[in-house]
Amino acid sequence: MTTYFDTYRKKTTHSERLFKRAKQVIPGGVTHNYHYFPPYPVFVKGAKGSKFWDVDGNEYVDLWMGNFTHILGHHPHLIVEAVERELKEGIHWGIVYEKMVEWAEIIQELVPCAERVRFCCSGTEATMYAVRLARAFTGKNTILKMGGGWHGPNPDLTLAIKWPFDQSESLGLMPELTQHTKYLPFNDVEGSLKIIHQAKEDLAGIIFEAVIGEGGFVPPTEEYIRMLRSETEKRGALMILDEVISGFRLALGGAQERFKITPDLATLGKVTGGGFPVGAVVGKKEILERTAADRKWKKSERTLIGGGTFSAHPCTAAAGLAMLQHLKDQAAEIYPVLEAKGKAAREGIQKALRHHGIQSIVTGIGSLFQTHFPYRDDAVLDSPNAIHQLTDVDKRENEFRIRMLTKGVHVMHGGGAISTAHSDRDIDRIIQAAGEIGREMSSGE
Ligand code: PMP
Repeated sequence: MTTYFDTYRKKTTHSERLFKRAKQVIPGGVTHNYHYFPPYPVFVKGAKGSKFWDVDGNEYVDLWMGNFTHILGHHPHLIVEAVERELKEGIHWGIVYEKMVEWAEIIQELVPCAERVRFCCSGTEATMYAVRLARAFTGKNTILKMGGGWHGPNPDLTLAIKWPFDQSESLGLMPELTQHTKYLPFNDVEGSLKIIHQAKEDLAGIIFEAVIGEGGFVPPTEEYIRMLRSETEKRGALMILDEVISGFRLALGGAQERFKITPDLATLGKVTGGGFPVGAVVGKKEILERTAADRKWKKSERTLIGGGTFSAHPCTAAAGLAMLQHLKDQAAEIYPVLEAKGKAAREGIQKALRHHGIQSIVTGIGSLFQTHFPYRDDAVLDSPNAIHQLTDVDKRENEFRIRMLTKGVHVMHGGGAISTAHSDRDIDRIIQAAGEIGREMSSGE
């Protein structure tokens, strides 16, 4: 009998050859661990709108969308044009320029907490700087993050990630740092308060994603998010909202607008750069001004942020500015449409799988979603912890992913991010693929 694995292999022979070649030069054949899945990933040839095509000529409706970056779909005309115009002026100068200011100004206008903006090249760098700022500004050491949260592999935040075990997930990290970074159980007020109290007078900050990218994009309860705000305020600690995924996506003003919470600092990435490498730390003036290069700081006050040869790269600024301008101008149309399509995808996929007796729960918010395969129908998936304990993550990451690829749909964590380029037909195609897979899974194909 032909399995879904055989079907995948048959459709993707060129990708398999390229993967073997890649492995001879790049460890594991990929440069982002999520790019690998067994038996090998498909290699992309090009992308446009909601779709990409692989090197074997297969077409896919894409839901990964450049790591949740392409909110307007792949290769949007307005971004391409903006970058082409910019390239006429040069490539990279390492000197300040006007568009950098305009780009920062629109961020300041749109993101509620962004009294000041500082650019860097990646979300990882942004979270590294945010943690440093929190420690510098408060004069304290302990940083709390969510179990199952992900802020890039910077050493300050990688330590406790192997949750629920408070231990390093990688060799090569300084063991002492583990003392100062701990995890909180997301959406668990009592459990989190206990850990916050253990930090005593040493709490520098709490960093979290409002909807966790590796945790089903499940929204925080209002009680939980209010508790985080009041505890940080009470303890003279900073609330750092990691908006690398949620920024300009959950609403024009990101998760802070959507959940009506103003953090002290926020980190941005992805959508902010219109598809080009980007990171930014934004937040309260009094905190970010500590990094100002035009002031004579006493040694005891100065906080170093940047460098970065490519910080605020002109192509990123041009793309980012064009993106944010467009989102601002069209917000009244874009966000309700993303919301409606996200809802249709969530409800449609869950219904299609359940129709064939496959236990499934599709979680998420706005344009973001993930499909889970719970061991029990009544599982409550309100945190990364619940998802890891109550669902078959392997089935989602491996079987569901490959099966969806054989039907022409590319998912990440069982779902992904809807863009404005996803048509109603695309959503129907995704739901139909889930239905076909449900039928195959239930009949053991
Ligand atoms: N924070 C969050 C919430 C993320 O999802 C990511 C990456 N996916 C990062 C930070 C790191 O960003 P980057 O990959 O741009 O370094």
